[in-house]
Amino acid sequence: MICESTTAVPITVAYQAFLDELTDAGLLTSLGVPGVYGYSGVFEHVLESFDLLTTRRVPHAQAEVMRFPGLLSREHYLKTSQMENFPDLMGSIHSFTGREREHMAMLGKRDRGEDWTQDLTPSALMLTPACCYQMYPTATGTLPAGGRTFDLRSPVFRHEPSIDPCRTQVFRQREFVRLGNPDEALQHRGTWLALGKDILNEVGLNVEIIPANDPFFGRAGRVMASAQKEQELKHEIIIAVSSEEKPTAIASTNYHLDYFGNAFDIKSSDGATAHSACIGFGLERVTLALFKHHGLDPDYWPSEVKNALGL
Ligand code: ZN
Repeated sequence: MICESTTAVPITVAYQAFLDELTDAGLLTSLGVPGVYGYSGVFEHVLESFDLLTTRRVPHAQAEVMRFPGLLSREHYLKTSQMENFPDLMGSIHSFTGREREHMAMLGKRDRGEDWTQDLTPSALMLTPACCYQMYPTATGTLPAGGRTFDLRSPVFRHEPSIDPCRTQVFRQREFVRLGNPDEALQHRGTWLALGKDILNEVGLNVEIIPANDPFFGRAGRVMASAQKEQELKHEIIIAVSSEEKPTAIASTNYHLDYFGNAFDIKSSDGATAHSACIGFGLERVTLALFKHHGLDPDYWPSEVKNALGL
């Protein structure tokens, strides 16, 4: 048996300590379920200021701006392989569609403490697992020469309850996505890896870029994860936030090859299946990193950081 050093703080202790610190400062309010919080005015002001900073740094004059509700059509969801790869993270919206008799039966089950959720019917909606998923179905068809670039923002859902304040079940993503030929997608990824790091450095976050993989499910998932890492399709921009030992990805880039082009029948101008790449900033995570590294009161942050954010 390997004994860990007695001085090492268990990671859950570090998570709980950071969560308590944020809650005591009034920045976060627990909503009774792990990974779901209300955020204060101060928190929101910092989050929106960072979001605006990325807008000021966007190099693409032609980026098409779209803001999404965080909901994905069930039909579109089924065109992706989310259910194969991340069944444990999914969120499906159900509602009641019965009549009075079924209503009374459901209320009876609730009152007796029985399972009433079986009386619900799936709606046409899923919660979106990533911001860009809502855009691809709108781009079906042939792209203009040079492809298309999108500036997106949306809440996203991932069912992974945790006490780490950085791992929430619902969070806001700001994304910049390129659809085009392989060169265009790769160029976008390269530009944004460097630019993403620059923007985060500008606000005093000394981040690192690492090759990464998504948390694919099950045994087959392990093969998918190592292939993704080997081909360097995903990179994370990381920094220590909730714990020193396990840094947090506050942004990531993904090169999807022709995965979404195939799923949603998107062609580049030469008729080939389109490739895509995106960078996503986790807005709550960036904001938490700012509070962690500069202190819980933005009034006392270094002036360079306040100036960059326009605080
Ligand atoms: Zn994306």
